[in-house]
Amino acid sequence: MNMLSELSELAGVPGREERVRAYIEERIRDHVDELHVDALGNLHAVKRSGTKGARRLMVAAHMDEIGFIVRYVDDAGFLRLQPVGGFDPRNLFARQVTVHASHGDQELIGVLNPAGRPVHLSSAEERSKVPKLDAFYVDLGLSGERVKELVRVGDMVTLRQPFADLGDVVTGKALDDRAGCWILIETLRRLGSTALDVHAVFTVQEEVGLRGATTSAYKVAPDLAIALDTTLAVDTPDAPAELRVTQLGKGTAIKVMDSHSISTRWLVDAMIDLAERHGVPYQLEVLPLGGTDAGAMQRSREGAPSITLSTPSRYVHTVTEMVAKADLEAAVTLLTATIEDGLAPPA
Ligand SMILES: [Zn+2]
Repeated sequence: MNMLSELSELAGVPGREERVRAYIEERIRDHVDELHVDALGNLHAVKRSGTKGARRLMVAAHMDEIGFIVRYVDDAGFLRLQPVGGFDPRNLFARQVTVHASHGDQELIGVLNPAGRPVHLSSAEERSKVPKLDAFYVDLGLSGERVKELVRVGDMVTLRQPFADLGDVVTGKALDDRAGCWILIETLRRLGSTALDVHAVFTVQEEVGLRGATTSAYKVAPDLAIALDTTLAVDTPDAPAELRVTQLGKGTAIKVMDSHSISTRWLVDAMIDLAERHGVPYQLEVLPLGGTDAGAMQRSREGAPSITLSTPSRYVHTVTEMVAKADLEAAVTLLTATIEDGLAPPA
C-alpha cells in the first residue's frame, strides 16, 4: 500500500501530470520493453509478446486528478480558481490546498473557502445555500505583494489530504484514478509471458474529456482495449439499494455500460468467464452517468472492442475516496489472467 499512498499524495491536475508520470516511469522501467512519452504527455509502456504480428491490447489508466488552475491573483493576494474536473462545491469548504508556484517551484500551503460572510455573521438563508464553484478562493496567508512574486496565473492547485490505511480499506485523494495506475503497475510487474503485445498507457487529461486516451489510442491502434478506473460504490447510509452501482469490497467491477461507452459484449462475457474460472470476486456495473478512457479507445479510428474494469470507490471526487484492498487485488488477478488468456474474439 506504500506505492498507492505515494501515488495518492502526488499532485497532477489535467495537463500537469509530470510528477505522477515520473514516479510511474521509475516503477515500471525494469518490467517493460519500451517506454516513451507522447506529445500530450501520455506514458506508453510496451511489453512485447515476441511474436510478429501479435494483437495489440491497450490498457489505460489515467494519471490526472481533479484540481484547479489559478485564474486570478487579487491585490490582497487571494487566488481565484478555474476548476479542472468535476467538483461538487459541497465538498470544498475549509480544505487545505497546495499551490504549486511556478516561480521558484515552491509548494505553498493555503486554505480554500467560499467568498462571503462566515457562518457566525450570515443569515439562515445564506447558510442554506451552496456557493458556486467560482466563489471559492485560496488564502495563502501572505501579503498581496509576496503572493504576486510567487504565484502566477496558470499555476496548479491541488487538495491536500494524507492517505490512510484503515485495514481492509484505504482512503485518500486522487484514488480516481491512482488506484487504476496502481493496478496497472502491479499487473506489469507480475505479468508472465503473453500472446498479446501489451500497451500499458498511463493517460493524461481524462477528467476533462478523455483527451489523452483519444490520441494515445490513435497511436496504438489497439485490437482490444481495457480501461482501468474507479466507479461509484453507493453502499452508504440513506442510499437506496437500486442506486448502489457497486459495493465496496465485493470484488472488481466488470462494466457493462456508462454514459460514454457500452462495453463490447463478448469482452464482458469473456471476463466474467475468466473471473469465475480463476475464483476472482467480481460484480457487474451499470453506471448511469460518467465515463472512462474506454469511451475514447472504443471510438478511435475504426473502433476497437473495449471494456472497463472498475474499482468500487465510496465518495468519488472528494478527498475521502475509499477503496477496498481486496477489490484492488481482484482487479490485478483478473487483469493478469485476461492478458495471459489472450482474449480471442468469438469465431
Ligand atoms: Zn477516473
